[in-house]
Amino acid sequence: MPETKHNSLLGLDLQELAAIAQEAGEPRYRAQQLFDAVYGQRVKSAEQISTLPAEFRNVLTKQGLTVGLPVIEQKFVSRDGTVRYLIAFADGQTVETVWMPEGDAGETGDGSEAGDELEKVSPKRARATICVSSQVGCAVDCQFCMTALLGIKRNLSAGEIVGQICAVLNDQEVSPPQDRVNLVFMGMGEPFLNYENFTKAVRLLVEGVGIPESRMTVSTAGIVPRIYDFAEEPVRPKLAISLNASNDELRTRLMPLNKKWDLEKLMTAARDFPLRNRERLTFEYVLLDEVNDSVQNAREVVELIRGIRAKVNLIALNSGPEIGFRTPSEERVLAFQKVLVAANIPTFIRRPRGRDIYAACGQLKRTVEISA
Ligand code: SF4
Repeated sequence: MPETKHNSLLGLDLQELAAIAQEAGEPRYRAQQLFDAVYGQRVKSAEQISTLPAEFRNVLTKQGLTVGLPVIEQKFVSRDGTVRYLIAFADGQTVETVWMPEGDAGETGDGSEAGDELEKVSPKRARATICVSSQVGCAVDCQFCMTALLGIKRNLSAGEIVGQICAVLNDQEVSPPQDRVNLVFMGMGEPFLNYENFTKAVRLLVEGVGIPESRMTVSTAGIVPRIYDFAEEPVRPKLAISLNASNDELRTRLMPLNKKWDLEKLMTAARDFPLRNRERLTFEYVLLDEVNDSVQNAREVVELIRGIRAKVNLIALNSGPEIGFRTPSEERVLAFQKVLVAANIPTFIRRPRGRDIYAACGQLKRTVEISA
């Protein structure tokens, strides 16, 4: 029997699982059984897949083919219920994944306000948002972000992206679609710089884990060519663009990638992006005290996004060590919001989650650094 080139089942799609079943001389329907067990039931080992004959399970074990669930190395629980997980992969690299329970989806920027659906969810069922990482570290170098200080270590594979979500769902004992779980790809890394793995992970999450794409939002710092690719994807989450500045000079200072893809290119891509019925593009804007948070900046933002069906999420900087910016006052945040709202742009102020455990936006790095 030919050797399989994979070491973990997580990350494999139905076709790849079918090839494994075929190599082992098993019927094709075994692939579906594997798929359901790995993604639907989120088993921890091949031995737990009771639908498979023992012989096939042994073959998988002999090939060294494990499920490949990452390990929760540390867990920090915030006063507000947010949980920050430090998740370790087979090579010892780690990322952070954040669990935000109940009712904060709109404020955490998933693109769908928490209360905008009339769907009845049993009070016994969980509702939460998971903030997902796509890379170990990040290459984009946004000046206000603690993850940027790590630099880029490597991309996560599709299996590692899905695996971190499965590990958190297992730990929380939650199962979509019965439990309402939103995903925001806004953790460590720039998903559009790990595009193939990210889009494969999305498909596996939709088809296998049971999280609909309408409950997912991906945020990009503005990798313009990938925005055009993403627009063509048959299965795609909602799109958020991390804007953070109202003119090129400021944006290049805060986000050096603006030199390559400036606001004209970015906003053209945003304007060209095909939105579905009732869908809005989200613009994320981290407010830095007296840097990008003036009323004049807000007026420029209005001009930038004029004519786009969009909403804006404002995030007052979650300051941390080594970040040379301050958190703006509430008055400044409200004054900024007022300008956008007056221009009929739905604008939300995101309440920071898990600030006490460094789980808030732009703060994902601390434990990685400690454990590295
Ligand atoms: S804000 Fe996002 S894209 Fe920018 S450096 Fe941080 S993780 Fe990377």
